[in-house]
Amino acid sequence: MTYIGHLISRAGTTCTTGPQSGVSQAMRWMVAALTLVAGCSVSPPPVTAPSPPAAFPSASPSAVRVLYRVEVRTDVADFEAVVVSTLSDPRGWQRAGFSLVRSADAPYVIVLAEPDEVDRLCLPYDTFGLYSCQNGPVVALNADRWRTATPEWTGDLATYRQMLVNHEFGHLLGQRHPPRPQCPVPGEPALVMSQQSTELNGCLPNPWPLPVEVTRAAQHDLPLSPP
Ligand SMILES: [Zn+2]
Repeated sequence: MTYIGHLISRAGTTCTTGPQSGVSQAMRWMVAALTLVAGCSVSPPPVTAPSPPAAFPSASPSAVRVLYRVEVRTDVADFEAVVVSTLSDPRGWQRAGFSLVRSADAPYVIVLAEPDEVDRLCLPYDTFGLYSCQNGPVVALNADRWRTATPEWTGDLATYRQMLVNHEFGHLLGQRHPPRPQCPVPGEPALVMSQQSTELNGCLPNPWPLPVEVTRAAQHDLPLSPP
């Protein structure tokens, strides 16, 4: 396995979108990163999350190995179990040749915290007590969102949590929001890197990277965030 560390990615800021730009060589230092999952407004009726494709290859021996820690800074149970199972799921980023491994001394950390603490962790960007973010080596998830999802989310809570983990960790792996409209084909699964917390707009809720996202991420040309 290949371990890529000491890399810095350029990322979008507050829920901005745009085509995947900034393609750069894997070992190139760039600017710090932050990306947000937004939230607010109206709620359509629940629908069933789409089934994932039938077969998924496991991470290959040449997979890029990314070590992460898990921290729970509030009174939510089972956060670590959900994170670990999501990031090791064969439907997730390992399809793109990443091996995401929990390790006590990892350079990356995924944190669940109350909104005020998430706001601090995400500085200098504003998360308004609502959003989650990826900021450098930190993925900070808003505990309120973890408990209740958002009104716009049409899937169940367990699926929302998987989406949140995969979306924000996707930013850590250099992935960006897709260009608008983030639901180009209503009735089809949303891209995991689209802002599903607020912009499903007729797409089906989806917690896993779609084939096009797997193909993009598998190029391994987008630098990871700084450890
Ligand atoms: Zn995002």
